[in-house]
This record gives sequence, structure tokens and C-alpha cells, in this order.
Amino acid sequence: MLPDSLVDLHALQLDDARALLEHDAQNSDRDPGESAVHYLQRVIDGLCDLSLKDPLTGLGNRRHFHGVLARAIETVARSGDSVLLLLLDIDHFKSINDTYGHLAGDQVLRAIAGCLARCVRPVDTVARYGGEEFAVILPHCRPAFGRAVAERIRASVAALAIDIAPLQTLSVTISIGGAYAPEWVRSTADLWIERADQQLYRAKTEGRNRVCLDQPRELAVSAEEKGLLFSQLELDELALPGPVPPRVNA
Ligand code: GH3
Ligand code: MG
Ligand code: MG
Repeated sequence: MLPDSLVDLHALQLDDARALLEHDAQNSDRDPGESAVHYLQRVIDGLCDLSLKDPLTGLGNRRHFHGVLARAIETVARSGDSVLLLLLDIDHFKSINDTYGHLAGDQVLRAIAGCLARCVRPVDTVARYGGEEFAVILPHCRPAFGRAVAERIRASVAALAIDIAPLQTLSVTISIGGAYAPEWVRSTADLWIERADQQLYRAKTEGRNRVCLDQPRELAVSAEEKGLLFSQLELDELALPGPVPPRVNA
């Protein structure tokens, strides 16, 4: 018998699949012309999608993040690719909840999630790692570019005007800690996350609204090469400002 609500995909047996098809035959969105196999695949795809998505922001959830990170560790070990992990934490988020309410806090989380998703390439992964923490995994990101990428993300969030009520917007900042997986080495997720987390802690203690990267070595990259990735305008915008507390723009 199928449970009423959740299907455990690992335990899904052929009989369960048949039961699911029969159960849904009367009251589902199944197209009469759709084959049973195709329909079942669609249901399973939908469940997988649900299990990997954060409902508030639409980003990948922690489970999704860990899956991508595990695959990145394999890729780094096999190919020596440079993969940067960033952990991002909203500054003084508790005071946003306390001052403007939990719903406003949720609005801020959604707005930042959207901003992060717009900041990165399709090959990158943005996930909601915890309550007000996000993670970004950036494959093919040479160490010489890591700081510029992280700074661009930080600056983009700081520049957001987030609508929390009619005629009321809020600006927030984030702190970012980052670490590269050691190339050609099969690291562990825990070690990698721990190194990025230490940098996030440093960013917080050094004043917030800043990027700290664990970058053991710097590759020599010419100004011309950098120019291919980032316009001069963007580089100019990356000057590190001091800490900025949350502020309301009425
Ligand atoms: P810091 O600058 O040191 O990071 O301070 P902070 O206030 O951001 O950190 P703290 O860990 O004290 O607060 C995190 C807050 O995030 C507390 C919790 O209520 C809030 N939070 C966690 N998940 C959610 C959520 O889904 N929605 C909202 N609105 N708030 C959340
Ligand atoms: Mg936090
Ligand atoms: Mg925080």
C-alpha cells in the first residue's frame, strides 16, 4: 500500500508504482493520452524536485547542496578543476525579524536568493544552506578570480532595495567566507565546509559586509585576462566598504 502523503523513492516497488497509477487514475492531472510509464516518471521527477528545493526561496536546499558538493569533490580529485565554495550569511538578520517582523524577514530571504541566482553562471549552484545562510558552489573558478566573484556577489546584495511593505524598502548586507577544494585531492565535504566556515567567521569578526577567502595560493593572471572576465567598471565597484548596518529607505 502507498502511504497517503509521501512516497519513499528508495523503497518504491513495482506494486507501489501500480497502486500509484491506479490511485491517480481518477483524480490526477494525468493526460488521458499520456502513457503510464511517462506519467510515473513525471510523478517521480516531481517528488525528486520537491525533495531538493527550498520552498521559501525556490533555491536548492541543503540536501541538493550536499549532492552537488559531493560531485564537485569527485571532479576536483579527477580533473584538478578549481572549485570555489562560498558560504554567505546575512548580517544582523535577527534584528530585521525583530524590527520588521518575520514576514519581512522572509521577503528579505527571497530577495537575496533571487539576487544570488542572478549573480552566478548557469554552471554554478546556489542553495539555501540554513535559516539565513546560503551557499554557492563555483566550478571552473580560478583562484585569481575568486575574490572578484565573491565581491561582486557581496556588492550586488548590498545594492538591493528590498520591498518589505508599500513604500518601504530595506537594504541589508552579507558576509562571505570561501575556500577552494585542494586540487587533485579527494577532500571531504566536512573539511571543505569547515574551511569556508572559518572564513565566514573571520568576515563576521572583522566587521561584516566583507569577503574572506581561504586562498592558499594565488595564480598569476594578467590584467588582460582579468579584463576578459570582468569589465573595469565592475572592478572599480569592488572597493571594500566598511560595515553597513541594516537601514530603512522610506
Ligand atoms: P550575524 O550578523 O552575526 O549573522 O547576526 P544574525 O542576527 O544574522 O544571526 P543570528 O544567528 O543571531 O540570527 C539568525 C536569525 O535568522 C534568527 C532566526 O530567527 C532567523 N531565521 C532563520 N530562518 C528564518 C526564516 O526562514 N525566516 C525568517 N524570517 N527568519 C529566519
Ligand atoms: Mg547565521
Ligand atoms: Mg546572520
